[in-house]
Amino acid sequence: MCGIIGYIGERAAAPIILEGLGALEYRGYDSAGIAVLDEVGMPQLYKSAGKLSKLRSKLRNGLPDGNIGIGHTRWATHGGPTDFNAHPHTDGTGDILVVHNGILENYLELKQELVAKGCEFISQTDAECIPHLIESYMREGCSFEDAVRAAASRMEGANAVVVLSRKEPDKIISFKIGNAGGIVIGYGEDEMLLASDISALLPHVRDVAYLAVGEIATVTRDVVKYTRIDGASVKKKKARVSYEAMTATKGEYSHFMLKEIHEQPDAVLDTLRGRVQFDPPGITLPELAFTDEEIQKFNRAVIIGMGTSMHAGMVGRMWIESLAGMACEVDNSSEFRYRDAYMDENTLVISISQSGETADTLGAMEEAKLRGARQVTLCNYEGTQSTRIADAVLPIRAGLEISVAGTKTFVCSLVTLYALAGHLGVKRGLISRKRLKTIVQELAHLPEMIGQLISDQAQYERLALNYARRANFLFLGRGKNYPLAMEGALKLKEISYIHAEGYPAGEMKHGPISLIDRKMPVVALVPKDDLYEKMLGNVNEVKARRGSVIAVATEGDEHIGDKANDVIWVPQASANITPILNAIPMQLLAYYIAVERGCDVDMPRNLAKSVTVE
Ligand code: GLU
Repeated sequence: MCGIIGYIGERAAAPIILEGLGALEYRGYDSAGIAVLDEVGMPQLYKSAGKLSKLRSKLRNGLPDGNIGIGHTRWATHGGPTDFNAHPHTDGTGDILVVHNGILENYLELKQELVAKGCEFISQTDAECIPHLIESYMREGCSFEDAVRAAASRMEGANAVVVLSRKEPDKIISFKIGNAGGIVIGYGEDEMLLASDISALLPHVRDVAYLAVGEIATVTRDVVKYTRIDGASVKKKKARVSYEAMTATKGEYSHFMLKEIHEQPDAVLDTLRGRVQFDPPGITLPELAFTDEEIQKFNRAVIIGMGTSMHAGMVGRMWIESLAGMACEVDNSSEFRYRDAYMDENTLVISISQSGETADTLGAMEEAKLRGARQVTLCNYEGTQSTRIADAVLPIRAGLEISVAGTKTFVCSLVTLYALAGHLGVKRGLISRKRLKTIVQELAHLPEMIGQLISDQAQYERLALNYARRANFLFLGRGKNYPLAMEGALKLKEISYIHAEGYPAGEMKHGPISLIDRKMPVVALVPKDDLYEKMLGNVNEVKARRGSVIAVATEGDEHIGDKANDVIWVPQASANITPILNAIPMQLLAYYIAVERGCDVDMPRNLAKSVTVE
C-alpha cells in the first residue's frame, strides 16, 4: 500500500522520483507528492489529491531543481485524500520533510504533546506528527540522525518512514517500525535510491538491500549506514536483483494482468525447477529446513493467508491431508492472529503472502512464533518481512506481478503447496514410488496444459459480451474446486465490480438457491471427478430455476453440453491437478468481463497490491 521513493546523487532528483512514483502506482493510492531540496537546501514541495497526472500537471511549468528528494503515493488512513493530507509533510519551520507508510498508533498522544509545545498542524494525518517530533528533538540540540532515532523510538504501530532535513541536505534517513510496507535501498554509482519495492528501483540499480523492522538507514550518495533504532550497528548484505524482475513492461499486452496470465506456463516451470525430479521421480524441497525427524513429528498443519492466498491455502489443505496424512486447517490470517488459536511445537504453520508484507499475515506469523509453532512461508520475494519470521521459506517464483489482481502468484502458490504436500508425504513415508511417478509425470505436463488453456481466448470475449452487464454472479464448486469458486468470484468482484459469491455447491439449497432466476449467471466447476454427478445435480437445479450456467468442464464430457448454456473446456487431469487448471478460466472470465465493462483492470478502485496495514 502506498509508495515511497527517495533519490540522492548527481542527477536531477525530480524526474527519477516521478518515474518511480509511476512504477509504484500499481500498489494503489489516492494522492501523491514530491519534495526536492535545491542546491542551497531549500525544500520545494508539490502535492495533490488524486492520480499522479494531477501532480504532474502542477509541475507542468518545470520540475524542481535539486539532486536530493523524496516522493510518495498515499493511501489514506487518517484524514481524507486531500492536497493538505498528501505527503510529504513538514514541521512548522519547514526544516524536516517526511513521507510515511503505515499507521502511527499513538499519534493522538504525540500530537497533544506537540501541540502543547506550540506545534501547529495543518493536516488531519497521523503522519504529520513525525516531522514535528523530529524537529522538536533537533531544536533541543540533536543532530538530524539522533533526532530521527529519538522520534522513531517514540512511535508505535507499523510504519515505514523516509526523512529529509534542509539543515543536513546531504542525506536521506529512513526507518522501519513494525510490519508496515518495505523499504528497499538501491545502490547506484554515486547515487542511492530508496523505495517501497524494487519495481521503482529497477531502471537505475541492480544491487539492493532491505531495511528490517527496527532499523535506520542513513543514506548519502556514496554510503549507506545501517543501525538499529536503539543505536546498535547493523551489518547488511547487498543482493543482486534477478533478470526477470527487470522486465516489468506490458510488452504486446493491453494489461499487466493479461501479460501475467500468459506468463503462467513459464512461471509454473520455474516453481517446479529443482524441486520436482522427473526422472527418477522425486519431490524435494531443498529450502524446507526441517529435519526428517521434525517432519515425522508434525501432527497438524495450519495454513494462513488473506484473499487469493487464502484460497490457495484452502486447496493446499486438501493436498496436505491426502498426500501428507496430516490434519490441516486453513484460516484467514486476520482471524487467526486474534483468536487464541491452539499451537505447539508439533504444529506446522504454513503462511502464504506473495508480497511477504501482508500486515495481517505477518501479525499471525508473529503470534505463531510466540506460541512455539514451526513455520514455513510461501512468498514471491526473498528478503521480505515474512521470510525473516519463518523458519523456512518456499519462494513461489512467480516473477514480478504488477497487476493488483493476483493471477500467476495464485497459480504458483498452488503449485508450491502441491509440491510441499508431496514432499511432506514422501518424508512421512505415505507416497509409494508408483504414486510418486504418477504425480511427477502429471506435473511435467502442467505448464503445457496451462498454455493450452490460455491459448483459446476468443471464447472469453464472446462470454464477456453476453454476460458483462449482469449485476450478480454465483460461482459453485465442490471439493478441491470449491476454493476455485471462491477465487473466481473474488477475481470478478475485484476487477469488474460485479457482485459475485463463491459457494460450495452443496450449500446451495441452504440459501443461495433463492437468488436464482433468469438474470443470475452461475459459473459451475464441473470436472469429471468423484463429485461430478453431484455437481451435475446442482447444474440441473439452476437450470430448473431458469438461471444460466457457464460450466467449466472436462474435455470429452458428453453430457454437460446439453445442460449448460456455455461450456469452457479444461484438459483431462487428475483431481489433484484440476483445481490448478481451473484457475485459468476464472482469471480469463473476470479479465474479459472487466475489459468489456471498461474497468481499470490493473488498478481496480480501492484496492492495493500489498496490504501492509490491517
Ligand atoms: N497513515 C498515513 C496517512 O494517512 C500514511 C498512509 C499510507 O500508508 O499511505 O497519511
